[in-house]
Amino acid sequence: MKILVINCGSSSLKYQLIDMDTEAVLAKGLCERIGIAGSKLTHKVPGIEDFELETPMENHDVAVKLVFDALTDKDHGVVSSVDEINAIGHRVLHGGKEITQSTVVDQHVKDVIRSCFDLGPLHNPANLTGIEACEKIVPGKPNVAVFDTTFGMSLPEKAFYYAIPTEYYEKYGIRRYGFHGTSHTFVSGETIKFGHLDPEKAKVIVCHLGNGASISASIGGKGVDTSMGLTPLEGLIMGTRSGDIDPAVVQFLCNHEHITVDEALNVLNKKSGVLGMSGVSSDFRDVEKAAKEGNHMAAVALDAFRYRVAKYIGAYVAAMNGVDAITFTAGVGENDAYTRAFIVENYLGYLGAKIDPERNKVRGKAALISTDDSKVKIFMIPTNEELAIARDTLRLVQG
Ligand code: ADP
Repeated sequence: MKILVINCGSSSLKYQLIDMDTEAVLAKGLCERIGIAGSKLTHKVPGIEDFELETPMENHDVAVKLVFDALTDKDHGVVSSVDEINAIGHRVLHGGKEITQSTVVDQHVKDVIRSCFDLGPLHNPANLTGIEACEKIVPGKPNVAVFDTTFGMSLPEKAFYYAIPTEYYEKYGIRRYGFHGTSHTFVSGETIKFGHLDPEKAKVIVCHLGNGASISASIGGKGVDTSMGLTPLEGLIMGTRSGDIDPAVVQFLCNHEHITVDEALNVLNKKSGVLGMSGVSSDFRDVEKAAKEGNHMAAVALDAFRYRVAKYIGAYVAAMNGVDAITFTAGVGENDAYTRAFIVENYLGYLGAKIDPERNKVRGKAALISTDDSKVKIFMIPTNEELAIARDTLRLVQG
């Protein structure tokens, strides 16, 4: 079985073809600048030179056709015909209140994705475009939609309702959905497998710390809380997002800066986080460098980022009345050993959590990074959202 995973943005399309017998990536690539001058396909196959093609891509249909051409090409292709590809898994941002799990695409699923355009204005239209392009270019091939919001759909009412008039939930579906759901499901599941934890009862906290950052609590792999909300703005301090903030700040900014609500939200989404605090960069490596060179606000931004992660861990330990494992993942979580150690050493001593400095040096593969006598197991586990999408797709097409 070979599964193609597609992640469509408004002007981009990322793909991976995965052999599900070995879970190896056979090929992966990216179409950039779709619908804009200078479109380009980059196609990578392990062991051979990258194939690059600059050619006009006026829409996603053209991009999808180019991807299938690249995958079946006699020189840089990896399958002899499209028939060898069994199904396509699509990353979809928002499934609204109705969709609680990954699902085979039919007209109803497409209608739901469309009905959530206002909840995911940047992603859902592009995700639907990708699905429709595949339906046109390879008709009859099963398409599966894997939603970023499904992890959050198992949250109990006390965790997903906002304390605002209930009519807004009923009218508009305003609630906590959470994002990075595919990553939280995958990494919490891998934590249970890798750590030999109880698959029914294990209490796991996953810290997905990348440019976008979120944290989740799950019991037996089922989400009980997650830090992002109606949109990805809530929760942790991120590369450019403020995370939790008093909503009255929006009103204050609008009144004093003479900007609209949309402009104020743009400040909170794109100009805040460690970028806004430090004035240096949204990239954590740049902020760390600046802090080391004596930039005070860069140091404060990193301190605040780590403090917020620790506060959420504390909240989720309380929410679950305990914790068996805490796992770090994504760009910062996987690569920044200092941040992992800082959080555990400065804030988690009361849990009896202890980091092992040697084990914490790990790069690129799952590892236990706590000491043998640590009361909570701490892991670093690389996330792999494409593999998670491919596994769900396989499960659904095999029935
Ligand atoms: P996203 O998928 O949200 O774009 P990633 O999970 O790819 O984000 O994470 C990207 C972030 O990881 C960047 O800000 C980058 O600086 C950070 N990062 C990568 N390696 C390191 C490292 N060694 N130390 C600190 N931060 C790192």
